[in-house]
This record gives sequence, structure tokens and C-alpha cells, in this order.
Amino acid sequence: MSTQPVLPQGVSAAEFARAIAAFRKVVGDEFVITASDRLLPYRKIMIPADENEFAPSGVVAPASVEEVQGVLAVCNQFKVPVWPISTGRNFGYGSASPATRGQMILDLKRMNRILEVDPVLCTALVEPGVTYQQLHDYLRERDIPLWLDFPGPGPIVSPVGNTLERGGGNTPYGDHFGNACGMEVVLANGQVLRTGMGSIPNSTSWQVFKYGYGPYLDGIFTQSNFGIVTKLGMWLMPKPAGYTTVMVTYDDPEQIGVAVDTIRPLRIDTTIQNVGVMANEAIVLTGMKRRADLYQGAGAVPQDLMLSEVRKMGLGAWNVFFTLYGTDKQIAPNLEIVTEAFSKSGGKVIPGIHDGSQVNELSLSSFSLLNWVGGGGLYWFAPVSPARGTDAIRQMHLARSILADHGMDYLSAPTLNGRDLHHLVAMVFDRNDPDASKRAKACYGKLVTEFGKQGYGLYRVAIDYMDQMAQIYGKTNRDVNRSIKRALDPNGILAPGKSGIHL
Ligand SMILES: Cc1cc2nc3c(=O)[nH]c(=O)nc-3n(C[C@H](O)[C@H](O)[C@H](O)COP(=O)(O)OP(=O)(O)OC[C@H]3O[C@@H](n4cnc5c(N)ncnc54)[C@H](O)[C@@H]3O)c2cc1C
Repeated sequence: MSTQPVLPQGVSAAEFARAIAAFRKVVGDEFVITASDRLLPYRKIMIPADENEFAPSGVVAPASVEEVQGVLAVCNQFKVPVWPISTGRNFGYGSASPATRGQMILDLKRMNRILEVDPVLCTALVEPGVTYQQLHDYLRERDIPLWLDFPGPGPIVSPVGNTLERGGGNTPYGDHFGNACGMEVVLANGQVLRTGMGSIPNSTSWQVFKYGYGPYLDGIFTQSNFGIVTKLGMWLMPKPAGYTTVMVTYDDPEQIGVAVDTIRPLRIDTTIQNVGVMANEAIVLTGMKRRADLYQGAGAVPQDLMLSEVRKMGLGAWNVFFTLYGTDKQIAPNLEIVTEAFSKSGGKVIPGIHDGSQVNELSLSSFSLLNWVGGGGLYWFAPVSPARGTDAIRQMHLARSILADHGMDYLSAPTLNGRDLHHLVAMVFDRNDPDASKRAKACYGKLVTEFGKQGYGLYRVAIDYMDQMAQIYGKTNRDVNRSIKRALDPNGILAPGKSGIHL
């Protein structure tokens, strides 16, 4: 690897050196990184792209809002862009890397204070570097009966980073942005905006009422490059009196249709309160087996082979997991309702199983899916589907056939959001194998295009497909984003290319 610095676009080596000296003045020498060996952890992108295309120019790590403001002043002066990360573990979407080469990573992990937890109103206020594990420990140590909702890598990632990507988990609070309340945002010009009720001096209600007065702005600071979020309010779930997690198995892959048509009304009328998940036979197998133990032939693993494996374990082609929360008296009638509905639809209902992600147990077990093939490559393909059986079947066939054309397995775990499913597909591949990487890359592109043609968009996308996805969402959408960008960040110093938004 070259030891020459990766210069931001249009910035000379001399100007860049001056900018680096200025960053050092703001945050201290040790919190500015330019040495190529120390940048390595920030370059591990997991996706099948050349990391040089996304190489950062360096890292600057402020410890306070004032230091963030100081960093942005330097950025404006020297036209050096910064890409903010909270914990930088956006695995399967580009990890910590910027969407374009030559940006400073603004690493916010030193800002890691839990500023407030209100056990009565069930709210928290945290900084970007706080991890779910840290918040979990904080609640435990103080015996505060509140639960967290977290994504798969919960212990090591941040509520702020995840929420700003509009990520999700599996409990009733699984829509993280839906359960966020109030942000503090440092704008490109250094102004500090507190959204919602937070704009009122001495606000009493920042974490309890989202909308404040006038336009509701929080959404424009998610999946965008309009500001640096330095504080985030969260709503937390009161620990329930009890719970029963239920698994429903369906034998036939086509039964994804009846499964979805059964889940939807139960989610919308809140008989099923939580996001839960449907896991197909292949993704279930990743928790127990390696691909090579099952199949060494060419192409995708034959589905029959996988189905016969999971059937031996009492599992199905689709396995739906959700949880009923409350007292025994609340759970019993709901269990009766769901048992009747799922049995009628042809599913086998098994209550009383364990799924830590639905009951406040943090773990890294979801990483087992990377062992399926080994080699550490991952792309998340995450199209949105209406929660209708016909759409789910259509998406399943489309995804499966495109993946198979590229020799890849359909590892699928749609989440049950009510009116939509996030039809999550984990594309794992051996990143050390150039052919496997090439196929994964081509496959992702084909999936994005073909789903787009059928009117399906992704809810979130990897850094190497941000421009393409913005094309699919259309010109007016892009024009509006660009107008906001030009108004809020006229020098284009914040995360150029994020979500396909450029100056
Ligand atoms: C096995 C496995 C399972 C996973 N399961 C899930 C899952 O269940 N749900 C899920 O959502 N994801 C999941 N992921 C994907 C990912 O790892 C998580 O979403 C993770 O929370 C994102 O990383 P982070 O929290 O460190 O965010 P970061 O990487 O810090 O941030 C993500 C992006 O948000 C923006 N950003 C971050 N902080 C700021 C800020 N302060 N101001 C402005 N912009 C900012 C930046 O563009 C940044 O690139 C999974 C990944 C793996 C490997």
C-alpha cells in the first residue's frame, strides 16, 4: 500500500498538510491519524469492492461538540470533507469507509457519554460513541427495569449510528428511528441545532415529544449528509412482566405467502407487538453448519439439500419468530389467537422457544452467518416489500433466481414490520477469492436493478451503490436533497456521496 496520503479531491498536498496541522490543534496530535498502517482498521469494508476506491485521507476524532465545531471550521477553510461515524461498524454496507475516496473520517467514538436515563418516562439521551452494551450495562448496574432493542452486532455498535441508518432490531421497539426522540446536530457552519422541543432554552420535553413546532426536521439528518449528530434521544421499552417467544414453521418455501398474510393483520392490530423475524432454511443453517459440510459442487447449494437438513432439526423452509409480552393473563388469549391463525394457515406453532434478540439479551451470535463460506465478505441486500403474500413470493423468486445465476445462496431473514417487510438477504462470500467477490458485486448490481424495475427499492444501501440507488428514487427526490445540501453545506464538506447526495 502506498504511504502517500490520499488527498481530498481538489486539495493540494501542501494545503492538506496545513489542514492536518489545524485538525491537530483542535483535537490534539494523537487524535489525528494519517499513517497508512493505523488507517487499516478503517479500510476493512467487507463489501466486494476495491477499498482503494473508498480510501480515507485520515481520521480525526473529536471529544466534544466544541471540537466538532472546530474540526468543521478547518474543513470549511481547506475544503476537506469529513465522513462521520459513531462506532463505524456499518458491516455489510461499507463499515467505516466513506462513499468516495479522499475524505477524513470523523470518528466520534470518544464522545461516549450516557447523558441521561429517565426510568419514569423510559427515555435516554446518548452520544454517538455509546454502544448498546454500554447502555445495557448502565441499566443493569443501576437496576433500571428498561430493555433495549439492538441490531445483530449489538454489543459493539451504537444506537446513534444504527438509528441514523434507520436500522432495526426485533422487539416492539425494533424501528429505531421510530423510537428516537430529539437530536443535537452540528451543522456544517458550526451552528448547533437541537431538534423538536430541544430548541427551547431549558427544554423540559426534548426526549418526550418529537415534533416541537414547525417542520419536523429529524428525518433529514438520517441517511444523509446534512449534519453531524452529537446527541440522540431514545425511547426504551419497560421490562415486561413476562414473555413467550413463539416459532411457527412452514414446510414449503411458497408458504412465505400465507405466512405473511397471516402475520400482517396480527401485527397491524398489535396482537403481535414485536418486529420479530422470518428465517429461511438457509439462514437457519448458517447458525449450525458450514456450507462446505453440506455441499461442494458448483453454484448455489441445492434447496432440497438444505430443506432435508433443516427438517431433521424440526425446522422448516420458513421459520417465523415473534414474542408475546405481558402478564400470563395477557399472553394466554393472544397465544390462543396466534395459534389458531397460524395453524389455519398451515404453519406448525411451537411456543416457549428462546430468541435473545427479542428479550434484551445482547450477543454476537448473528456473526455465525459469516462462517457459512468464510473469508469475511458480506453485503446486505435489503429491499422493502409490502406485507402481502403475493409480493413476498414475487421477491423471493426474483432474489433467489438472481442469486443462483451468480452461484450464491439465498440467505433470507425478512423482518415483520407490519405494513412492510424488510426483506433482508445476507450475501456472504469469500472476500479473498477474486471470482467470488466479482460474482457478489455483479449480483448485487443486478438485484438492485431488477428489483427497481419491479417497483421495489432498498431501505438502505452499501457505499458502492449509493449513486445508483439515488437514481432509482428519481430526479425530484435527488433535486430536493441537493437543494437542502446546498443550503446547509455550501462547501460540500459533509460526507459527499452519502445516499447519492452531492453538491
Ligand atoms: C452479522 C450482522 C448482523 C447485523 N444485523 C443488523 C441488524 O439486525 N439490524 C441492523 O440495522 N443492522 C445490522 N447489521 C449491520 C450493521 O453492523 C449495524 O447496522 C450497525 O449498527 C451499524 O454500525 P454502527 O452502529 O457502528 O454505525 P456507524 O458505522 O457508526 O454509522 C453508520 C453510518 O451512519 C452515518 N453516521 C454515523 N454516525 C453519524 C453521526 N453522528 N452524524 C451523522 N451521520 C452519522 C454515517 O454515514 C455512517 O457511515 C448487521 C451486521 C452484521 C455483520
